[in-house]
Amino acid sequence: PVDLNVLADEYLRLAYHGLRAKDKSFNATLVTNFDPELGTIQAVSQDLGRVLLNLFTNAFYAVQKRKEHCPDGYTPTVSVTTHHQPDGDVQVRVRDNGTGIPEAVQKKIFQPFFTTKPTGEGTGLGLSLSYDIVTKGHNGTLTVETTEGEGTEFVITLPRADSPE
Ligand code: ADP
Ligand code: MG
Repeated sequence: PVDLNVLADEYLRLAYHGLRAKDKSFNATLVTNFDPELGTIQAVSQDLGRVLLNLFTNAFYAVQKRKEHCPDGYTPTVSVTTHHQPDGDVQVRVRDNGTGIPEAVQKKIFQPFFTTKPTGEGTGLGLSLSYDIVTKGHNGTLTVETTEGEGTEFVITLPRADSPE
């Protein structure tokens, strides 16, 4: 049984402080909205942790990139929201107000080895691995909503009743 509120909170802070340890000037506002009635799901916590860590790392990268282009009056913000649906499914939403993803790039982001990051900064494996963990490993879905220049939201939806395969 995994409490996604605890897992998401842990990995959000891990990702943030990991980045800040490497780059003292890095700063972002963290916003959390945890559903107190979320309950637990059957899941492999290390695997979902990797998914969350990757989504958070991508989000922090995107806000940092946007900041380089519009430093004034911009507050880099990464938020995580959990909630449960009436049918029992649970959702984790990871949202950033970063660069967004251009339409031509969107089609490719779940492909293995696709990255827009310079060599050494990204392997392009994060989202393809995350997609497999969520869909094949946990019978869930992983979707994205994004607007170029405004930000991106990834949504993980997991069935509460299902066990990992
Ligand atoms: P990597 O982070 O190593 O590049 P990923 O599979 O995690 O690999 O992501 C693939 C690509 O998707 C990134 O290089 C980037 O272009 C895009 N991307 C992912 N998340 C975001 C985000 N939150 N905002 C903007 N672009 C993103
Ligand atoms: Mg990544």
